Parts: sequence; structure tokens; C-alpha cells
Amino acid sequence: MTDALNPGQTIGILGGGQLGRMLAMAAARLGLKVHIFEPGENPPAGEVAHKTTTAPYEDEAALTAFADSVDVVTYEFENVPADALDLIEARVPIRPNRTALATSQDRLTEKTFLKDIGLDTAPFATVSTEAELAQALAKVGMPSILKTRRLGYDGKGQARINDRHDAPTALAAMNGADAILEGFVNFDREISVIAARGLDDTIACFEPGENVHTDGILDTTRVPADISTATRERAFGIAGTILTALDYIGVIGVEMFVSGDEIVINEFAPRVHNSGHWTEAGAVIDQFEQHIRAVAGWPLVDPVRHSDVEMTNLIGDDINQAHAIASETGARLHLYGKAEARPGRKMGHVTRVLDPATDR
Ligand code: AMP
Repeated sequence: MTDALNPGQTIGILGGGQLGRMLAMAAARLGLKVHIFEPGENPPAGEVAHKTTTAPYEDEAALTAFADSVDVVTYEFENVPADALDLIEARVPIRPNRTALATSQDRLTEKTFLKDIGLDTAPFATVSTEAELAQALAKVGMPSILKTRRLGYDGKGQARINDRHDAPTALAAMNGADAILEGFVNFDREISVIAARGLDDTIACFEPGENVHTDGILDTTRVPADISTATRERAFGIAGTILTALDYIGVIGVEMFVSGDEIVINEFAPRVHNSGHWTEAGAVIDQFEQHIRAVAGWPLVDPVRHSDVEMTNLIGDDINQAHAIASETGARLHLYGKAEARPGRKMGHVTRVLDPATDR
């Protein structure tokens, strides 16, 4: 295989959720095919993909057939078991690489990596037992947040500790899972940088977006973020440092807390990211096409922002607003084709172009 895929070749995607769906649509625009591997029935990405395999990550025969049918593999879901990745990697390249995935899967490994490459994180300490929690509280201080090291998302597996009385309940909330205690960052705002690195080492950063979370779930992303030029440049520098240190290929989402001119990194996701959905309506290229270009070995695009935009997630019953939003001028509606609107479930998003004179 040459490094760059040709039109007609196939990208394998592990995970069939909305991110896989949007990646598949971007790939189709470039004449590339997508084969989705997803354990759950009827995945959102399956509706728009060339092919879908429905099988558990433990099914070696299905994984082998999948790997042999594609030219490169990427993922929209980080928690793919290591054995499945070993099997795939022996047959076809995985982009972004295994190190990026493994580093982000464990909050302790992730924070240690960030510290080792000279970047700032909240103070942290590892916690598995009551005694370790007491030591960690002495080191990190309060308020702080106890988080499971693995498998946490959208604020799940997290418990706030404001004073010592909260400690036992917080530890119980981890359900026996290994955890990390993080100092609470008193941030002014949360931002994220969606950035990409190509096979030729080019790095391209989208404008930082300013994120508002409600109950641990991303609610809105506004671009441009209300940050100084120096903070913006520093945020780009941080994303670039992480991409280079990981020898990364593809799009990454780096979440950061900004306090004054200080930036503390919260976490990174080795994939396209919810806080990058604004790029569909606000930039000359969206994060999905940029990721497909990167993993296919195509040139990246300089992701210039052309509009001020606000992206709002449609969660659970918000889907009932779809028709009203569809009739709004300047609103770009994107639905994920999920049949059932459960509370907290991401059903779609809307990106509204803002008028800088009146909307800020
Ligand atoms: P996470 O799953 O780690 O991204 O956390 C979800 C959200 O909880 C973040 O986007 C923040 O709004 C908040 N959060 C997480 N960690 C911290 C922290 N160390 N200090 C302050 N807020 C936090």
C-alpha cells in the first residue's frame, strides 16, 4: 500500500455512533469508502456507510475479516479492547496510533504524559483505597474531583469533594474502580482546540471554541472564544506539542481550562470531538473531512474560520425542536438518525451563524 489512499479505497472505523456517521459522510465526499465495526445493532453510522460489521470486539474472525477488507483503520470510540487492536494492527495501520489511544484511555497515564512533556494539568494523585484517598486529599487539597481512571465520559464516574465528609461517598461512587483525584480548577472558561496532524507532519489547528457544559455534558460551543491573542497562540502551541509528542496522525480534541492567561489541560480525545462540530458551519473545512484526509494520507487543509458560530447539542427531548430549528434562517441542523430519545442521549446538534454586531 502506498501512504495515500486512492478514491475507492476503504477506511475502517471502530465504533458506529454519530462521530462515525459524520466521518463516513465526509469520506464519501472524497470518494472513499467506509466500513464500520460496531458491536451494537443498527448503529447511526451504518445508515451512511458502505459496509457495517455487527460483532463484539472479542470476535476474532469478524475482526480479521474487517481488517482484511480495509486499507487503514481509525476509531470514533476510545475504549476498544487492546486484544482487538493487536489483531487489527498486525494486518493494517491504525491511525491515530496505539500510544495515543492508550495514553488517553487512562486519566493517570494521560496526565502523567502531559506533565512529562512540560504541559500543565490540575494537581492529581492516584486513588484506589481509603488510605490513598486521605493521602491524595492531603497532596491535592480541596475542593477536588475524584474520577475513575478509565471509561468516564460526559461527567460520568466523577464525584466532587468539597470537604472531608464528602470523601467516603465519593470513593463509594467509584464502585471499586481505580480513580484519580484532581484539584478543582477555578477556571474563567473552558476551551478546546481541534487540531490535526498529517502523514507529512503538517499540523493544522482550528480556532479554539469556548465550551459550556451542563451536568457534565457539552451544551454549547461558541467560536471565537473570548480569549486573548496570547492565550489563543498558547492553546495552539499546546495542541501542537501533544500531536508531535505522540507522533499523531488524525484529528485530536484537546480540552483546556483557562484562568486569566493561564491554561491547564483537562484531557484530550484521540478522535473527532463534539466541541468541533461547529467547524461544519464556521470553517472552510470541517473536522470530519480533516480527519479523513489525515488518516488517508491526503494533504490537510488550512482550517480557516469564516464565521462566528454557536453549536448547540440536541440532547434527549431537544429533538422535538427539530422542525422549528429547520425553519430558522442561518441555523444548520444535523440529526444522527437515532430512533429513541433517552435523557442525556445526544440526538443531534444545531450550528447557528452569529452576527458579530448583535450576537455577542
Ligand atoms: P471531564 O469528563 O474530565 O472532561 O469532565 C467534565 C467536565 O467537568 C469538564 O468539562 C469541566 O466542566 C468539569 N471538570 C472536570 N474536571 C475538572 C477540574 N479538575 N476542575 C474543574 N472542573 C472540572
